[in-house]
Order: sequence, then C-alpha cells, then structure tokens
Amino acid sequence: MTSMISLQGGPGVAQVRRMATEVPGPRSRELTARRAKALPAGLVSGAGVYAAAAGGGVLVDVDGNSFIDLGSGIAVTTVGNSAPAVVSRVTAQAQRFTHTCFLATPYEQYLEVAETLNRITPGDHEKRTALFNTGAEAVENAVKYARVATARPAVVVFDHAFHGRSLMTMTMTAKQAPYRRGFGPFAPEVYRAPMAHPYRWPSGTENCAADAFRQFASLVDNQIGAEAVACVVVEPIQGEGGFIVPAPGFLAMVADFCRARGILLVADEVQTGIARTGAWFASEHEQVVPDLITTAKGLAGGLPLAAVTGRADIMDAAHPGGIGGTFSGNPLSCAAALGVFEEVETHDLLTRAADIGEVLVRELGIISAETGIVGDIRGRGAMIAAELVVPGTEEPNREAVAEILRFCQNNGVLALSAGTYGNVLRFLPPLSLPDELLREALTVLRDAFRSL
Ligand SMILES: *Cc1c(COP(=O)(O)O)cnc(C)c1O
Repeated sequence: MTSMISLQGGPGVAQVRRMATEVPGPRSRELTARRAKALPAGLVSGAGVYAAAAGGGVLVDVDGNSFIDLGSGIAVTTVGNSAPAVVSRVTAQAQRFTHTCFLATPYEQYLEVAETLNRITPGDHEKRTALFNTGAEAVENAVKYARVATARPAVVVFDHAFHGRSLMTMTMTAKQAPYRRGFGPFAPEVYRAPMAHPYRWPSGTENCAADAFRQFASLVDNQIGAEAVACVVVEPIQGEGGFIVPAPGFLAMVADFCRARGILLVADEVQTGIARTGAWFASEHEQVVPDLITTAKGLAGGLPLAAVTGRADIMDAAHPGGIGGTFSGNPLSCAAALGVFEEVETHDLLTRAADIGEVLVRELGIISAETGIVGDIRGRGAMIAAELVVPGTEEPNREAVAEILRFCQNNGVLALSAGTYGNVLRFLPPLSLPDELLREALTVLRDAFRSL
C-alpha cells in the first residue's frame, strides 16, 4: 500500500511519525536496484529509504513513510529542512541571478554573509571571512592561510579527528577505514596528537586534560619544533569521532600554548558551528577564541556553503588572487545562509538547541540505567551521543549500534552512528523538531534498546 505523498517540503510536511509500508518500501527498493547499476560501490547511504519531502522534524520517503529526523542530513539542516526564511530567500535569489562567480562579478549577498560571520564568531578583534563550498575546502583553505601567514609548514591535528576527504583533509582525518584506506600517499607535514578524550583516557578522567596537554606540548616542542608549526586544527567537539568533548580546560591550555609560540589555532566548527551546540560556536563553551574558524554544514540550510573566518592580519596575508573558486560563495547559498541567520535569531534557536540537549541527556540517562550498555553520554546542545559498550566493560559495542539504528529506521526514526570504533549513536536533530516528536522518537529509541 502506498499512501499519498505530499510533494511539498518544509514546515508544510505533516509533523507525524507514520509507517505506510515496510521499510524500505517498494519504491525505495526499486531505486536501490537502479542505484546499483548507476552509482559506484564506494558511495554508501545510511538509510535504505529515498527522500521525497522533509521539514520541521520529519522526513517523508518515496513510499509515504514519515520518519522523525534525528540526523539533519549530518548536522546540516539545523534550522529545519526547507526552512521558511531559507526557501523564500533562495527562491527570490534564483529569480534574480544564480551565478556570476564572485571572482568575476561580485554581489552584496556574499558581503552580508561575511559581515555576519565576522560579527557572530568568538572574539572582538577585526575579522575577515572568505567563502567556499564544502567543509573540506574550508579546512584546506584555513591551512593555506595559516601557512602563508606564518611561513611555517607543519599542521597538528588530533586522534579521532575528521576534517574531510580531500588529499590534505583526508590526511588530517584520523580514521583509517573508511576514510584513508588505499587512498595514499598522504600530504606531508601533518602530525597527530592524542585527544583529551575523558571516557577513554588510560590514566583516568581526572588526569585527562593535563596528561593530554603534556603529550601535545611535547609533540610540538620536542618532535616537530614549535617554530615549524603553522597551526593546530581542532574540532571543539569531535563530530565523526563520536562527539568527544575534550576534557574541560584542554582547549584553553592548547590555545594559550599556541599563542605563546606564534602557532595559529584553527577551530574546525564545520559540524559544531551555527547554533548546533546551544551557542553560535562550540568554542564559546570553553571561552576559547580561535585565530581561524571553519564553518560549513549548518551554515546554509542544506545548500553548499563553507567559510573561513579569522583574524584580519592572517586572512590578509594571502596575496591577491591566491584564494577563491568558481562556485565559492554562490549567491543561492549566500541567500540561504542569510535565511539561516534569520531563523536562528527570530526563533531563538540557541536556546532551543540547549533545551533539546537537556531532554536528550535526561532520556539517554534513563535508558542507560535500564540497559547497562551505555558507557558514556556526551555532547552539548542538539549534538548528543551515547557510546555503547559490552555490558560491564569498555569494549566498543558496534553491533548494538547497528541493531538500534535498524530498529529505529523500521519504526520511523532516523539517526546516525559515529566514532572511531563505530559504536556511538549520535543525535543531531533539527532545531525545528517539535517537542512531541522528540519525545516520541525517544520512546522508539527506548524500545530499540529493549529489543536487543
Ligand atoms: C563534515 C566535516 C568536514 C568536511 O565537510 P565536507 O562538507 O563533507 O567536506 C570537516 N570537518 C568537520 C568537523 C566535519 O564534521
């Protein structure tokens, strides 16, 4: 049976969880068969269903199944899918012009996005913003800025890091499978320090920040040589790595250390930025003011847009013509970003993100007490994860994550996994998700844990 499918996305989508067919339904299965002949094997999708419409807190598939969305297309549709301010601004922009190339003929919308990012990023210093298309491209360009501004080669990153899939950013990414395997040789001058990961720190949570900092400092001072280090790139909360929140104080110690040595601190806020964690930027939770910040995922409501925002003296160090790209700062994407800023400000979505986080942490705590397979609950705002373990141990329980995600999908809830060991359930709901749906999704999640 196929029920009627509303072709309208955005908040027009009925805010219900409803199963019209088995999952995946016949139409999704048909597309999966077509896909096998048209797409390469290396491209994998988490869900077995194909999207037809989405908005508010719901995604409707091509068979008319209506899912509660706890993934936001991997932290992208933070303000909701097809959010009203995004749709109206993009529609109006599409009717005016779709592209000129900012490097050929500039336009005001680009400036507005840059001015807003300069205003809302941490720090009162003078800033500049350059726009790009993807997170990887932003991180790659942040490294270019850091190198040209410092005339130093080395880049320091951390265990569990994810920075992208281009040559440079794949090198910076920690996880070998699937991101690096077989794709080398990698870019030179990338060094990796331990992350202050409280849950898995060998000498215990209390020692985590100080120990991790000592190892980081020793790597820089004794192995690389501080005078060779252009920048340290860090996610203030690690995303793909499993929502690892660095031990309190660690980021601030790293920031002070860098400042004393002329090393630039780059906060990769591609996943954490733009209201996701209950602040515009996750760096704010640790009172860290980075020299450069990268944003992308949540920046333009689903249209491709990324940015590097940073200290004016660093950003101006690149010579004229050294930075740019054909599509970078596309006018439709800029219009979408202005719509995102409008949605966050008019609906106070920073508070909404914090409220969603409280509900998630509370409910996951109850589930944890019931089941004994939740080793750690962590994250901030609408970026919360549960790390699953074999009961009574800290051994990663990847199978349980896979089973829970399958149960959730079959019962109308879409969520994601993460983590170096694939044993982390991560929740990234859109901030437009109504409370009733959030509670309903968590009931399904609880049933999923009980079904194990
Ligand atoms: C997703 C992500 C990237 C890469 O972004 P793409 O748009 O996929 O290139 C970089 N850094 C972080 C922290 C991310 O989460």
